[in-house]
Amino acid sequence: MKKASAQELSFRVPMLVTQARLFRPDGVYPVCPQCSVTMDREYQNYCGFCGQHLDWKAYKKAEIVCRED
Ligand SMILES: [Zn+2]
Repeated sequence: MKKASAQELSFRVPMLVTQARLFRPDGVYPVCPQCSVTMDREYQNYCGFCGQHLDWKAYKKAEIVCRED
């Protein structure tokens, strides 16, 4: 039986989404807590970029960050 690495395990454990990025005028988009990519949909189970399992229970209280440009 293959032993899962620490990294594989960390991606399976849900991480809280705690940041959202403000894009004017479109609105606010959630930020992946693992890879910091801006996600185009809220409440998806996994980050489409890095595959991190996401937990949305803190998202309503997420910190709003401005777009980096
Ligand atoms: Zn990600």
